[in-house]
Amino acid sequence: MRFCPTCSNSENDARFYGNYCEACMGKKVLVKLDDSVKASICGKCGRIKGSGFFHKADEKGFETVLNERFRGYRVKVLGYSGLEVSAEFTADTGSGEIVVDKEVRLELSKVTCERCYRKSCGYYEAVMQLRGSAERIRRYEDKICRKAQRDEEFVTKVEENDGGIDIYLSSKKVASAILSEMGIKPIRSYTLSGLKNGRKIYKNTYAIHLW
Ligand SMILES: [Zn+2]
Ligand SMILES: [Zn+2]
Repeated sequence: MRFCPTCSNSENDARFYGNYCEACMGKKVLVKLDDSVKASICGKCGRIKGSGFFHKADEKGFETVLNERFRGYRVKVLGYSGLEVSAEFTADTGSGEIVVDKEVRLELSKVTCERCYRKSCGYYEAVMQLRGSAERIRRYEDKICRKAQRDEEFVTKVEENDGGIDIYLSSKKVASAILSEMGIKPIRSYTLSGLKNGRKIYKNTYAIHLW
């Protein structure tokens, strides 16, 4: 019969993880967890980041940040109030997984994320030139702006031009996604915009006729 060296509980009274009873193993796991973790917040868009990408500051975003900061644990957020996050930590003790609950405080430092930085510099990779019926142009403009937002990209600017509008987009990827989603076949053209690591970088222009 095993007895827990910390509290003398016997194997008959509690589940054991190695030499320790469940309660004592839980305490051992808890003391190793930090009370607070550092993360970054973008001062412009309010998204947060641990060690990876920026995420919305919601339950899912907090969960991603905590999983990045608490390596070796599986973290599930149970709720949060301001920057106090209550979470469930699953740890592998070597003799089975144990789950403990803990409140963790996020210590945020303000930064500017790359997306907001690019936005403030007027960065764009693709231009969609919409021409044709004013009503259809408005409808497509709307769809394009919504899609850009959904994909965490942005519309740099919209210019009235030549009886239509030019929509400047932050990424070619979102431009292609929009085109295939809408089933549009544009006339493509490419403008050399610079060099990156010796490779030529092009901005894509898509002429779209909506009659
Ligand atoms: Zn014990
Ligand atoms: Zn931002």
